[in-house]
Amino acid sequence: MEYEIEATMPRLVIPAPECGHCGEVVEYDDGAMWCGGCRVMWEQIEDGALSIPDPDREGTAVPCTIAPPAIDSGTGWSLVHGPCILPSGHEGEHECPMSRVPNGGDA
Ligand SMILES: [Zn+2]
Ligand SMILES: [Zn+2]
Repeated sequence: MEYEIEATMPRLVIPAPECGHCGEVVEYDDGAMWCGGCRVMWEQIEDGALSIPDPDREGTAVPCTIAPPAIDSGTGWSLVHGPCILPSGHEGEHECPMSRVPNGGDA
């Protein structure tokens, strides 16, 4: 059998959805996505959707609560972290998902 090789213009490649905390490509089944390492899932499959604890994983009802030590900037200011809100037992280095909010506000 003979083949003819044709030049084609580049196709669009849409990257696979990733966990916004650890960067791993998430698993997908039956309309839900989840990150096994962080023990969270997404019910809405859209860019920027917030995760919830993955109810199919043991221990996910228990938040991690470990707080990283406060960091003294040496300028009279110190950076204080709240406890980690990922489900207890999540994997990896202890990096908590954080965002900066103004004092006393939900931003
Ligand atoms: Zn993750
Ligand atoms: Zn944690």
